[in-house]
Parts: sequence; C-alpha cells; structure tokens
Amino acid sequence: MSYEVVIVGGSYAGLSAATQLARARRKILVVDAGVRRNRFASHAHGFLTQDGTPPGEIARIGKEQLLAYPTVTWREGRVERIAKRADGTFDVDGEHALRVILATGVRDDLPAIPGIVERWGNSVFHCPYCHAYELDRGAVAVIGSHPMAEHPALMLPDWGGPVTYLAHGNPVAAEAREHMQRRGVTIVPNKIIEVRDHATAVLDDGTQLAFAGMLVVSQTHPSSPLAAELGCTLAESPTGGTYIQTDAMKQTTVPNVFAAGDAAMMMGSVTLAVGDGAMAGLSVHRSLIAERAGLNH
Ligand code: FAD
Ligand code: MG
Repeated sequence: MSYEVVIVGGSYAGLSAATQLARARRKILVVDAGVRRNRFASHAHGFLTQDGTPPGEIARIGKEQLLAYPTVTWREGRVERIAKRADGTFDVDGEHALRVILATGVRDDLPAIPGIVERWGNSVFHCPYCHAYELDRGAVAVIGSHPMAEHPALMLPDWGGPVTYLAHGNPVAAEAREHMQRRGVTIVPNKIIEVRDHATAVLDDGTQLAFAGMLVVSQTHPSSPLAAELGCTLAESPTGGTYIQTDAMKQTTVPNVFAAGDAAMMMGSVTLAVGDGAMAGLSVHRSLIAERAGLNH
C-alpha cells in the first residue's frame, strides 16, 4: 500500500500530527506500539482541559477522534525498518511513504540505585510541574546522581515542602551549594544504598530518610533506533541524553523525515508533544504541497 505520510508512534505527538493531516484529507498510516512514556503514572497533569486525567484516557480519546477521519489507517505494532528509496521516498516495513514522521517518544535511563525503577511514576518522578503539586508540600528529596539535579533542587522549594538534596556521594560545586543554602535546601552528602517503602532513602551510614516523593534526573534517548538508522543527526541534551535534531518546522537532517514530541525535544510534556506534533503535521503537509506544485521547499 502507498501512503502520503507514515507516522511512527501514535501517542500525543503522533496523534496530533495525524489529526492535522487527516483534516487535510491526506492519506496516512499511523503505526503505534502503544508503549507511552507516562504509562507508569496514574494521572497526567498540566494538559489543558485534561488535568488529572489518566494518560491512557487522553490517548484513547485522541485516537477515537482521529479514526473518525476516512483517510486514516491505524496499525498496532512496531515499525522495525524504514528504507530510503533512491527517489527520496520510503519503504516502511513494506509500505510506501512519501514522508515519515517519527513520534516514537523516549526511553528513560534512571540511575542504578535499587528501588528507583519500581517506584518510577508512583513516588519517584523527573518533572516538578507534572507531579510536585500532588506531594502536597510534603518532604521531597532530589537524587543528585547527575549535576543537572541541582536545577530541580533549586526549583522545588516553590512547591512548599522541605527539600533535601541527596548528593549520593557526588561533589556539589561551591556555587550550587551556596544557591541551595539560600533556597533552604538541605544537602546530604552520603551515597544512597537503596530506596524502600514509599520513598525512603537508605544511606551508606544506615540512616533512613522518609519522603513524600523523590525527583531524579532521567537520561532520555529516542525509544527507537529508526532515526539513527535513517541517518538523522541526534543532538545531545544537558543530561547526556540524546534527541532527534530538527529545525523549527520539525524537519530532521534527512530530507522528508520529520520528528516530533519527546523524541525530538530536549525535554517534553504532553502539552509540548501535542504542539510539536501539530507543527510536524502542518510542516509535512506544506512540503507535500510544495512538491506537487514543483516549488522548492
Ligand atoms: P510517547 O507518549 O512516549 O509515545 C510514543 C509512542 O511511540 C508510544 O506509543 C510507543 O509505543 C510508540 N513507538 C515507539 N517506537 C515505535 C516503533 N518503532 N513503531 C511503532 N510505534 C513506536 N507529561 C505531562 O505533561 N504531564 C504529566 O503528568 C506527565 N507525567 C509523566 C510521568 C512519568 C512517570 C513520565 C516518565 C513522563 C511523564 N510525562 C508527563 C511526560 C510525557 O509522558 C511525555 O512528554 C509524552 O508521553 C510525550 O509524548 P510522545 O507522543 O512524544 O511520546
Ligand atoms: Mg506520539
């Protein structure tokens, strides 16, 4: 089968891109493996009109509304391979596509501290805006596994609870130490051996510190190797993670390959993924029109 656009990933960014293209009556295929980044969280916060809605519910409504358009084909599953044809179009697992949008999201690489992964999205988070309000001014710990953790540590006092920076045996630069002191953040130098119970840090001297929640820096990478396999340039984020480099119109460094959402941003949210996806959808449509009209684009 031949499609104008194949969208890889049918979560917030992919759905948003697809909706713009469906409304322009473009023939599109969305392939989605259904493994959203926020699948660990029971509620999504901060997305306008859906604050506190379960993440899967937001995606479900988006999919239902998208599938009302007649030019949309939806396939569950994982795209394994995208091959470039000599004419600049693509074979996506055997389907022909003029354009590809990668909306595959990211995978979170968390510090290797026992107990972190099991609590991810429940009592251990990466984003103050997504989850800190629900800690209800309770005590919060920031795990200093990466120097970038100093940023949430300096932000979190605004949410109203006591903030502890667990340096996890890592040095804290004099300037950061001074900033944290000024913000009322307690610095604990010890290594964390384990996180247990709701969010209790067990330190290397046997001390146990209980918190309402913990913030951790997650190193994110595109969850799929497709961008790298296609030859798209990846940019490095300040946490040492990577994301697909695009221009402001969401065009990657490979012609006719676009990318949107967490996979194409330094840091993401549902709101940003939806905006990014919409931009990718418009941009792809614009490039199809330009090509048909014989214009340079
Ligand atoms: P995703 O939602 O991750 O979706 C990517 C989709 O692409 C998935 O369905 C995946 O299966 C699919 N896919 C990947 N590779 C392939 C392939 N090869 N073939 C087919 N399909 C593929 N943000 C908020 O705004 N509010 C919150 O409260 C919030 N809470 C969060 C809690 C946690 C624990 C985490 C980790 C994140 C949270 N986020 C929150 C961030 C939010 O999850 C992301 O910003 C958002 O999911 C990005 O949307 P996306 O469409 O780019 O990617
Ligand atoms: Mg998506």
